[in-house]
This record gives sequence, C-alpha cells and structure tokens, in this order.
Amino acid sequence: MLILYSSLSVKSQVNKIRGLSRKIDLFSLRLRLTIGIGVVSALGNGSIAIWMSWKMQQILINSQKNHVEQIAARLPDDVKLYSEMIPLETGLQKAINNLTNTNSFLWVQKPNRQILAQSTKWHSLSDSTVAELMSKSEMPIKPEVYKIGQRYFVLYGGSLQVEGKVLGKLFIVQDMTHEQTMFLAMVQTLWIASILVIIVITLVIAYYVKFSLQPLRQLNQMTEVISAKDIAQAQLHLDHAPSEVKELAQTFNMLLSRLSQSWEQERQFVSNVSHELRTPLTIVHGYLQSVLRRQNNLTETQKEALETAASEAEHTISLLKNLLDLARADSGYLHFQIESCVLNDLVAEVVGMAKNYSERTIQVEVQASCIRAKVDYNRLKQVLLNLIDNAIKYSEPNTPIILKLNQQQNQATIQVCDRGYGIPLQHQSRIFERFYRVDEARNHTTGGSGLGLSIVKTLVEGMGGSVTVHSKLGEGSVFTVTLPI
Ligand code: ADP
Repeated sequence: MLILYSSLSVKSQVNKIRGLSRKIDLFSLRLRLTIGIGVVSALGNGSIAIWMSWKMQQILINSQKNHVEQIAARLPDDVKLYSEMIPLETGLQKAINNLTNTNSFLWVQKPNRQILAQSTKWHSLSDSTVAELMSKSEMPIKPEVYKIGQRYFVLYGGSLQVEGKVLGKLFIVQDMTHEQTMFLAMVQTLWIASILVIIVITLVIAYYVKFSLQPLRQLNQMTEVISAKDIAQAQLHLDHAPSEVKELAQTFNMLLSRLSQSWEQERQFVSNVSHELRTPLTIVHGYLQSVLRRQNNLTETQKEALETAASEAEHTISLLKNLLDLARADSGYLHFQIESCVLNDLVAEVVGMAKNYSERTIQVEVQASCIRAKVDYNRLKQVLLNLIDNAIKYSEPNTPIILKLNQQQNQATIQVCDRGYGIPLQHQSRIFERFYRVDEARNHTTGGSGLGLSIVKTLVEGMGGSVTVHSKLGEGSVFTVTLPI
C-alpha cells in the first residue's frame, strides 16, 4: 500500500514537472532575455562581491601588519628613553609591557635563545599558545599572517638595535583571530545579500521582460484571428506599444493589404475566366446535343466522338459553374434567399432528381412528417445532389444510398450515408478544401474536380449551417448537414 502510494506520488511529481516544462517554452524570447540579463547581473554582482571581499581582507591584513611594524619601530626608541633613567634591562621590560596589548605578545631573545625580556602585562593568548609560538625558531623579517590551529596571527622577528648596539632578536605576535572571524562573518553576509539581490533582480527582470513582450503577444493574438474572409478589413492597432512593435504592426498592415489586393485580383480573374468560358461552352454543348439528337445518319465512331465531346463539355461547364460560385462566395456576392422550407419535400424532390440519372437504390428515413429549416431551397438542393452524386461515385453499384432527416432541438440534420469505399482518417479533415482529392488514381475514373465538397461547405455555411463527415475505410461514409430551424 505504502509502495503504491509512493509510486503514485512520484508519478504525480513527474507529471507536474512535465506540465511545468510544457508551460515553460525553452526557446521563448522571454526566457532567453531573462536568463541572459539574470546571468549578466549575477556575474556583475558576484564580481563586485569578490572584489569587495578581497579588498577588505587586504585592508585588514595591512592594518595588522602596520601595527606590528609600528611596534617594532617604536621599541628601540622607548628602550633608549628608559635606559637614560633606569638600567637597560629594566627599561627594555618596561618598554615591552608598554607596547603589549590584549592581542599582542612580545619578547626579546639573545642569540643563545636566552629570553632577555617578554610581555608580562595581561594578554589574551593562552600559555600553551605562547609556549608554542616562542618555541618557533624562524619568524619572518617582514610581518606575515599565519594560521596556527584555528587562530590567525601576524608574526614578526627582527633584530633589536638600541644606539647601534644589537640587544638580541625581537619577536612580535599579533593575534588577529577576532578581526578575521568578524571579517569572515561580514563576507558571508555580503554573499547572502548578493544572492538575494540577484534573485530579486532576476524576478524583476522576468516581470519586466514579460511586460515588455506583451505588445508582441497582442500582435500575435490579433494576427491569429484574421481569417481569409476579413483580411481586407483587417488592421492591427497597438496604441501603447513600443515604436519597434508599432512599426512591425504597420508592416503587417501593409502586407495584409497587398495580400488582400492580390487575392481580390485572383478571385476576379477566376470569376471572369469562368464567366467568359461558360457561355461559349454552353453553346458548344447545346450544338453537340442537338446534332446528337437530330442526325440519324452518323456512324458509330462519329456518334461516340460527339458523345465524348458533349460529356467533356458538360463536365467543364459544371467545373466552371462551381468555380464561379466559389469566386462569388469569396467576394461576398453569393446571395441566399433564406426562407422556412419543409425539408421532407426538398429531400423527396432531390431523391426524384437523383433517380433520373442513376439507377441506384436511394432510401429515405425521416424522423417526423414535417421538419422545417431556414434555408435557401435551391442551394440546399444543390448541396444534397452533390453529396448523393459523391455517394454514388464512391460506392459499388449494388449498395444503397440512405438519406436520413432528423430534428434535434433547434437544428435539423440531413445525413447522406453510403456503404462505399470510405475516406482514410488523415484525409477527412482536408476533403472540404478546394481541388483536394483523396486518391487521384481512383478519382480519375469517377470524373469530378475536387470542388464538389468545397461548394457544399461554402453553401451550407452561407445558410448558417455546418457540414461534417464520419467515415470508415471499407465501410462507408456519412456526411451530416446541420441546419438552423
Ligand atoms: P470530386 O469532384 O473529386 O468528387 P469532391 O470535393 O466532391 O470532389 O470530393 C473530394 C474527395 O473526397 C473526392 O475526391 C473523394 O476522394 C472523397 N469523397 C467525397 N465523397 C466521398 C464519399 N461519399 N465516399 C468516399 N470518398 C468521398
């Protein structure tokens, strides 16, 4: 039980860390700027703290050394003064005691190591420390700092001359443990303060960077929602943004306007070409049909050639019509006559029309006898004929097509179901795109141009509805048109 609990808590921790790392974008400008500035400030602060520690240590050591040097320089003068009044050895002892303080210890030693005089005044050094120091045979001529055990000392050993006569060797020991401990405590405080300052600076920088990048985020959000429909009116305005971001927004605006212009020109071109080609092709198709109907003396080959020409012309006319419809929809010139219609009648009419050109079994399943919706009657007919046409094209001739009419709350749905080849999952989201076809090899035999479903989507959305597909490979497809009631 305990093991289960701990493994669960580890899992939840791992999930938390994963969630956090997903939240933190490692490549974001915000993180990079924050880390960059944070590192620079840490280096700056760290360098100042190191320099200050070093400088303070130097000041402390130099002051201690100076003090020792002053004692060493003063002692001969003091001894000389005292020796004018009292015997030399007593004068030496008096002078040593005068210069001894709580942290220092002095002694004068003859070359044969006999002690001439030593501090007898109270000092803080323990007897064992004094004994250990006095047993040292060598001491530096210039004052130096030594660490002995846990204590720090400035040691000095030089000859003592009074009026040109060498009395012996003078040794000075200055205990600086207290000062050094205070100094180390101060350095520690300085480092803690520096780390706190770095943390605070980094947090402030993180907030400031976030705040500074806010206009860029706004720009991104504004650009994200611009759709193909409103690209012509789209303008990016950022009132309180920095000049650089404002310039970027202006450049975006110019880009959008150029895009919209070239898009408009393209639409216009497609619309004009479709319109100009459709009329002569319709005439050609008409002539071909009438020749096929009236001329009985055509050979089989001639008849076949004319039929192929007529079928191709019909296909091209339908393609041009679809292109024209899409171009009009893009420019907002595709008008709908929305009115409340009985969908049962519409479905029945469409099934009748479909049966005229196909011998396929088309079944109709309706939920209620009168289902109404607000639609453009003719456009919806076009939609359903397109879907039925596809269902026929992409299924075997012996399988039925089923139309289901339902009503749910404030929506009516028409489903066109087939038991055909189905659409692979990865293509399902793209089949409503213009000229998108799933399998060119198979589609070639079925004709079509890849515009049918994009027309369906445009028309259904133009009527305030939506169209979706649900399909399984090898089992069939269901296209659902949802319309407002
Ligand atoms: P097309 O003119 O090629 O039929 P559509 O836009 O109507 O163009 O359809 C796009 C593609 O979607 C088709 O090429 C076809 O592969 C696939 N498709 C459409 N309807 C069906 C369906 N009922 N069953 C299987 N595939 C379909």
